[in-house]
Amino acid sequence: MKVVLFDIDGTLLRTDGAGRRAMERAMQALHGAVGDTEYRYDGKTDRQIIREQMREAGIAEDAILAQMDVLIARYLENLADELRDRPDQAVLCAGVLPLLDRLRGRDDVTLGLLTGNVQQGARQKLAAVGVAFDQFVVNAFGCDHEHRPELPSIARGRAESYLGRAIAGDQLVIIGDTPADIHCGRSIGVRAIGVATGRYSVEALAEHDPAAVFVSLEDTDAVVEAMLS
Ligand SMILES: [Mg+2]
Repeated sequence: MKVVLFDIDGTLLRTDGAGRRAMERAMQALHGAVGDTEYRYDGKTDRQIIREQMREAGIAEDAILAQMDVLIARYLENLADELRDRPDQAVLCAGVLPLLDRLRGRDDVTLGLLTGNVQQGARQKLAAVGVAFDQFVVNAFGCDHEHRPELPSIARGRAESYLGRAIAGDQLVIIGDTPADIHCGRSIGVRAIGVATGRYSVEALAEHDPAAVFVSLEDTDAVVEAMLS
């Protein structure tokens, strides 16, 4: 059994900055600042983005924490508005649907998500590109822990509960578009696969020693082979 955990942004889909605009509008509304405009959101959890950007803006730690849940709620409202008002912003990455179909058809694969998005944000983004959320049965979200390297262990625990048996770290496969995806499961021996459909090139991802790296997820046979070998 392998548990295949997909990152969302830059891996399954892209939202053309809708997520960032939704977050910046929420931070502006609650703290009057958006932080560093050069700051990269990719590879980060939603709470990490808020904490790091509001620290950068000089907001006190207790104020950041006190407003965290309200800010996330505002972000989700903004994200829903963004995705509804400009539905063409959300685009599925090439090869995703055939790959998910292939993996879903195997009885030795369990599908899941491992993402910095809070759960409701993940649901909204997948809905915007017509990918069924419920096919992902073992998940770890940005609302489970602010620190991404904690997420693989959370996913493993959920996989053990779901499958009713022990799951070793090397039975988990994480596929993502950033070095953070490649590194986050290293301490428990997760198999990491990079895909260059986000902002990092194949060469840049390869420097972080993933088990494999792809230009896209279009070559279903090769990607499945890399996941399950
Ligand atoms: Mg990503």
